[in-house]
Amino acid sequence: MAKLLIVEDEPELGSLLQQHLQGEGHTVELERDGRNALESCRFTTFDLIILDLMLPGLDGLEVARRIRQPRVPLNNVSFESAGLEHATSATVPILMLTARAEESDRVLGFEVGADDYIAKPFSLREMLARVRAMLRRSQITKEATAASVEVIRLGRLEIDLAARSVKIGSTVTDLTPREYDLLLMLAHHPGRTFSRDYLLERIWGTSFEGSDRVVDTTVVRLRRKLLEEGERVVSVWGVGYRLDA
Ligand code: CA
Repeated sequence: MAKLLIVEDEPELGSLLQQHLQGEGHTVELERDGRNALESCRFTTFDLIILDLMLPGLDGLEVARRIRQPRVPLNNVSFESAGLEHATSATVPILMLTARAEESDRVLGFEVGADDYIAKPFSLREMLARVRAMLRRSQITKEATAASVEVIRLGRLEIDLAARSVKIGSTVTDLTPREYDLLLMLAHHPGRTFSRDYLLERIWGTSFEGSDRVVDTTVVRLRRKLLEEGERVVSVWGVGYRLDA
């Protein structure tokens, strides 16, 4: 069972989610604002964070950004003093709650490292299904990391599974969790073509509300970040994508 953090300023919704997730056997912490959430992340390594976009003070995007970049100081509190304890939160899966369905917010959310979205109002059933899918995916990643393969090398591209880091030559490339998962899936089977639907289901989850365009936009960003190695990510017309060995 997992350790979850809910960051939600609507007390009723927060408590409802907390109750139901505790009902699934999880340990669930509830915070009402971004600063307390970040403070919580300094001391606890969560398996999943459910983060409301519209929060008083620091909004959800800013909270996600700071969780992903643990060295941004919060007022006079320096995260550097928290050391590794906090750094481990940098890869925690984030499910963002949003009342705003606009593409720009969704894209911005992905850029700062949210892994999935659910738009308010949502059904509890869908929320619980989404949480289960995200926890399952992160478990798969952990198992892959624990397996014997530690580093995948393709040309100048190097993926370090344990560190979840990617290098082109000696330069570290900063990927969002979804960009990384996509690259990892393709890189596990170079030369194999994956359909958009398959990638969407495995990486974003079946219940992801976005269209398969999110796969395309993620590929575009991934290619750009992989510099000259980006050419390895090949579009297969009418099907999807593959990574050239
Ligand atoms: Ca809110």
